[in-house]
Amino acid sequence: MNGGKVMQISEYYNQIWKCGRCGYCGGGYLEDRCPSRFLGRFESSTARGKLLIARALMNGELHPSPELAKRIYECTLCGSCETICDRIIHLDLVDILEALRADMADVGLGPMPRHKEILDWIKKEHNPYMEKHEDRVKWIPQGKDVSGQSKILYFTGCTAPYRQPEISRASLQVMDAAGVEVLVAPKEWCCGSVAFRTGARDVGLDLANHNVELFRSLGVETIVTHCPGCYRTLKLDYPKLLGEMPWKVLHFSEFVEDLLGRGKLQLNGRIDAKVTYHDPCHLGRHTGVYDPPRRVLKSIPGLELVEMERTREDAWCCGAGGGVKSAFPDSALKVANERIKEAEQTAAQYLVTTCPFCRQNLKDSSDSSGGHLQVCDLMELLARVI
Ligand code: SF4
Ligand code: SF4
Repeated sequence: MNGGKVMQISEYYNQIWKCGRCGYCGGGYLEDRCPSRFLGRFESSTARGKLLIARALMNGELHPSPELAKRIYECTLCGSCETICDRIIHLDLVDILEALRADMADVGLGPMPRHKEILDWIKKEHNPYMEKHEDRVKWIPQGKDVSGQSKILYFTGCTAPYRQPEISRASLQVMDAAGVEVLVAPKEWCCGSVAFRTGARDVGLDLANHNVELFRSLGVETIVTHCPGCYRTLKLDYPKLLGEMPWKVLHFSEFVEDLLGRGKLQLNGRIDAKVTYHDPCHLGRHTGVYDPPRRVLKSIPGLELVEMERTREDAWCCGAGGGVKSAFPDSALKVANERIKEAEQTAAQYLVTTCPFCRQNLKDSSDSSGGHLQVCDLMELLARVI
């Protein structure tokens, strides 16, 4: 908002006025579909309410305030509202919600204080975990050489290397079993998802420029990642901001599905258990990858896949996204508790996901309630049967 003008949401002026205020994006009276409404129960918690806020800001009937900014950031950017709205009219709700955040950032009311600390660290050490950049590759097993000439780059992201190295190690094990050589780049920086999602677009752009230059210098042809946040950012945000890219971006579930289909990866073990699958918002609703993880799971001998009530496009968010886990950790946990209850209703022994961030939040919830579910990543499960 420069000189009182709302710059970022003004781009969506026509879309914002198309909202017919049906209210379905909030889930109606019978069911919860919007984590932010589930937490807040205010009209302003829903996408419909936020569009009204956007209209009022554009008309000058409402002025930015810290309370307003907080409400705008209490949303996981899960995209459930956009999926529902798509069935009625099409509105780019996630883009609009992000533009609102960018406007809050422009007037100094966003991102939230914890986000600002994280972004300051990212600018210094290129990761959001308050860790040193050089420790990004500490997870690589001793003696394992991933610095070769492969044109397949394993983009590790930040969450697994710094917080859940078992996922990165499992991913490498699976690649080894398939005879696929991958390259890990120590000069990789945070993909920028944290920055783009919290309205700090300038920070995100710096990170994107660095990474794109790195990919070009390495001559990569394929980028594979296990992190849906990175996947969405590399696949959608980078080309949108910087133009078409010459490489393919794949999530590990897609990459592994292809290896299995071509007989390059053999699954020799069994997992005799019921498994339910949680669709990460960035992999499902944001990028449309629903079937590859399910097909990979079904290919594991002995495994029975059972679906939760809300699944695929209608999946309930884990609660961590959009900067909610860092700025409002209790809210993130409340949303995850709902998902854990739903997973437990399937009588599954394992709750599998394909996102280290979802895995962390769901595990935090399950552990805090003393639940029996084993929460893990698809790559960890696969590493047990190769
Ligand atoms: S579903 Fe779409 S049209 Fe209906 S209130 Fe929500 S944003 Fe508006
Ligand atoms: S993105 Fe998710 S949390 Fe945010 S308003 Fe839409 S449904 Fe609610």
